[in-house]
Amino acid sequence: MKQPRPKPEKIRCDACPVLCYIADGRSGACDRYANHQGELVRLDALTIIETTDAKVVPFLAENPHPQDWDGNIVQQSRPFVTAVGAGTTYPDYKPAPFIVSQQIDDVDMVTVVTEGIFSYCGVKVKIDTDRHIGHERDVVRVDGEPIGHVMTSEYGSKMLSLGGVEHLTGGTKKEGRVTCDALLRLCNRDAVDMMVGEGEDATSVVVQAGKPPIINGVEERLMRVGCGSAAIGMFAKQWFEHVDEVVVVDDHITGVLSEHQAGKMLDVPPTGIRVKGRRSTPGRYFQVAEPGTGWGGTDIQDPLVILDAFKPEIAWPGLHLLMISTTGEQYAYYELDAELTPQTADIPPALKASAERVSENCEPSVCSVLFMGGAGGSLRAGVTENPVRLTKSVKEALTYVSCGGAQAYVWPGGGITVMVDVLDMPTNSFGYVPTPALVAPIEFTMRVQDYGTLGGYVDEISPVEDVISEQARRVDQIEGQPDPMARSNYRWKSGGSA
Ligand code: SF4
Repeated sequence: MKQPRPKPEKIRCDACPVLCYIADGRSGACDRYANHQGELVRLDALTIIETTDAKVVPFLAENPHPQDWDGNIVQQSRPFVTAVGAGTTYPDYKPAPFIVSQQIDDVDMVTVVTEGIFSYCGVKVKIDTDRHIGHERDVVRVDGEPIGHVMTSEYGSKMLSLGGVEHLTGGTKKEGRVTCDALLRLCNRDAVDMMVGEGEDATSVVVQAGKPPIINGVEERLMRVGCGSAAIGMFAKQWFEHVDEVVVVDDHITGVLSEHQAGKMLDVPPTGIRVKGRRSTPGRYFQVAEPGTGWGGTDIQDPLVILDAFKPEIAWPGLHLLMISTTGEQYAYYELDAELTPQTADIPPALKASAERVSENCEPSVCSVLFMGGAGGSLRAGVTENPVRLTKSVKEALTYVSCGGAQAYVWPGGGITVMVDVLDMPTNSFGYVPTPALVAPIEFTMRVQDYGTLGGYVDEISPVEDVISEQARRVDQIEGQPDPMARSNYRWKSGGSA
């Protein structure tokens, strides 16, 4: 009798260009694939999103009491097969790992699911703080390796651009490895310790998606209420009857009540105040100090240093002055003495309450991490034999792009360049391969008829019931996220021909 051939000791994984040879019971270099008794298996379970009214729940592994799921998907809320745990199409000549159909409101829909290997990817980080963390174009380092740079600040927030092909592939091997590891941790919601800038001026920043930044060891609490000028506008009415002058100290635009348009409208008389820096328009001053981690994102701890002597022909002894930062966390109250020099005084309750009102109107400071990647390359071949048709279908709103079920913003122009908030995605959505590159889930959803038109692998379509197994991880849809299969996502939503 013919004996079965012994299984080879090691098997080759071809899910990325590294082509690991994996011994039985071991996993490959990325810990995503393993050899289980001669069979190559994806170690993370396929993740299914179930559309419910509930808020997000953790994965089964994290939740000792997961929602019951009886396996009857017809009776259940609508399942959406994400690419988390799906596997890749690499080397891209073959169809995507899962091409799944289901009927939604009498429309046959299909979702093409794959984990993309992204060499062209990075994250954009928004850090809600006024504190100076670095100048535009300053280099951001992790473990001494450059992984990105400081971008243009946005309103009340500092911005970082991290990763990208220049750091993943364009530097040393270590730079690529450290960059990939930092991106992976940021995208999987872990904290990353980074240094911004050089030498003694460098700032330490700990970034974690959804958490406050930690800047030079101090956890940030509040995002500013607005710039100094905006704060004057917002609170002028609460100040003008209680104090003669207010200065809102801000690294960008310091506001002065008596000169500001809001003060003029309220008939606040001139006070003879003189503010250092560059006067932009009435009551709005730029560059009153250097950027730093002091009042209003400046380097000052004593607000009086931004003032010159009061004009003696206008100011008067007994004039009251409130100086406050853009978060209301710092404030000081002064009275001019006979020499018109500000002297610290006890702040009246109404003004103290107004400072607390400024703080109350500040939002909590958090870090936001948005994954950005280019899906307009070879992974399209796992969707269709005619890749450009997929790009066109996305542009024509016939195909909806999601990442781990989360709505992806698709940039205008060429390619399929997507951006998505990692907090909208299931936890641990991301992996890596040592090439180095990030592995991120991506799904393309469309009508079956549109899939046929763009040259899709219609013979590979499986009904959703055949794809979902008991081993799948199930999560509820994240609150506020659209259902990828809802007709409102598509150009044909009103029922007309597309
Ligand atoms: S690194 Fe991972 S995906 Fe790449 S070949 Fe090895 S096991 Fe497979």
